[in-house]
Amino acid sequence: MRRVARIFAARIPDFLMKPLSLLSTVLVGALLASCAPEQKAPDSSQPAETTPPTSSHGRLVVYVANYPLAYFAERIGGPEVEVKFPAPADVDPAFWEPTEAEVEAYQSADIILLNGASYSHWLDTVTLPDSKTVNTSASFSDKFIVVKDAITHSHSGEGEHSHSGTVFTTWIDFDQAIQQADAVREALQAARTSQVELFALNFDQLKTDLLALDADMKSEGTRLAKQPLVVSHPIYQYWARRYGLNVQSVLWEPDTVPDEAQIEALKKILATHPAKWMVWEGVPAPESVEKLKALGVNSVVFDPSANVPEKGTWLDVMKSNIQEIKKIIP
Ligand SMILES: [Zn+2]
Repeated sequence: MRRVARIFAARIPDFLMKPLSLLSTVLVGALLASCAPEQKAPDSSQPAETTPPTSSHGRLVVYVANYPLAYFAERIGGPEVEVKFPAPADVDPAFWEPTEAEVEAYQSADIILLNGASYSHWLDTVTLPDSKTVNTSASFSDKFIVVKDAITHSHSGEGEHSHSGTVFTTWIDFDQAIQQADAVREALQAARTSQVELFALNFDQLKTDLLALDADMKSEGTRLAKQPLVVSHPIYQYWARRYGLNVQSVLWEPDTVPDEAQIEALKKILATHPAKWMVWEGVPAPESVEKLKALGVNSVVFDPSANVPEKGTWLDVMKSNIQEIKKIIP
């Protein structure tokens, strides 16, 4: 829990800054003061951590399955919510296993936000209370992509897994991200009817940001015009579908240098899919970059940010992802 408290203590400025900058805008345009959204400043006299997983402080306790949902809940809920994401920063939350105590904390939250689409493999063996559990991707479940022939593999430092079931990286299709954020808005509004307008306003601001990402990524898709790309892991299917990208996937890890067999397998792909760029989930090892260069393949990073980034927010990571993609066609 210490790690969680630290992460979210560090992230408080995120939603503090929003009301502050809104406030100064309003002050500058003094005439508009009466239209200022009623956002309460967080009470600085209260300790920022060691909050038990109940509705103390009057804030809604929201447990989430991944960082994108944590970010959406913070943006929409602002000071009305206390967002909890107990997965350690160095794991993939999709394959993370919470401890018994962590499962109990989820169960006792006011709201539980799940990603859906085969995410959170721990849900196969745990029951969460229906009344407060929200599957944020339910509205587009008919558009999930089913994984065929999933290969069992392991990520560095984690056990073996396969990406079976449906593709779960739903939010890097930014239209799907909007639908997930909308499900978060709906859940918060249902749980706290006194703040329906605040949550609606905050959602609209988030939606504006997500629409901008969607438009930027769409224009990159158009510019790429089906140019072949290789992606480092089978998580980019919704992204490729939404933005018309021509991708083939390998099963590489950013911090693991590919061995001869992996290089040979890539050469086979390149024979029919002559990619000049590989899109990585994280910054690749320099040696991997060199090995790819030798094959005429350059590297860019598009990080899905399923977990908390080292710096910045989910939105910052997505903006930097799009800047990376722009390198492909300068
Ligand atoms: Zn994997």
